[in-house]
Amino acid sequence: MKNLVNCPNCGTLFVKALRPLCNNCHKEREESYNQVYQYMRKKENRMAGLQEVHEFTGVPIKLIQEFIREGRLHTSSFPNLGYPCQSCGALIQQGKICQSCKDNIETGLKQEVREKQFDERKSGQAKLSRESLRDRLN
Ligand SMILES: [Zn+2]
Ligand SMILES: [Zn+2]
Repeated sequence: MKNLVNCPNCGTLFVKALRPLCNNCHKEREESYNQVYQYMRKKENRMAGLQEVHEFTGVPIKLIQEFIREGRLHTSSFPNLGYPCQSCGALIQQGKICQSCKDNIETGLKQEVREKQFDERKSGQAKLSRESLRDRLN
């Protein structure tokens, strides 16, 4: 049974084996990667940003960012390259979200814990006042 799927890039039916793209698109993607890589490996281009690389190579910024995310372009060598944070879109160089989103999530979690503790205390007090009321009634 052959695993026939539509190429997510061009829609052509192809046999899905190792690659998620059809042969043509895969080849084009590799060519794009080579263009970007050939550009970046030149010493004077190391500090290039996404826009510059895009303008010079004609490779879409989104695709360049995919190469970075896949670890094929190392941000340790190219400090001005990056890809968007999944949460706010800020340029990042590792992980899925930026530091400030990470911090936000952490503060959010802490806040939640605090609120929960507060609620528990509140319901504890409510119970207490009910009991003292009963005491008084008895
Ligand atoms: Zn394709
Ligand atoms: Zn973010």
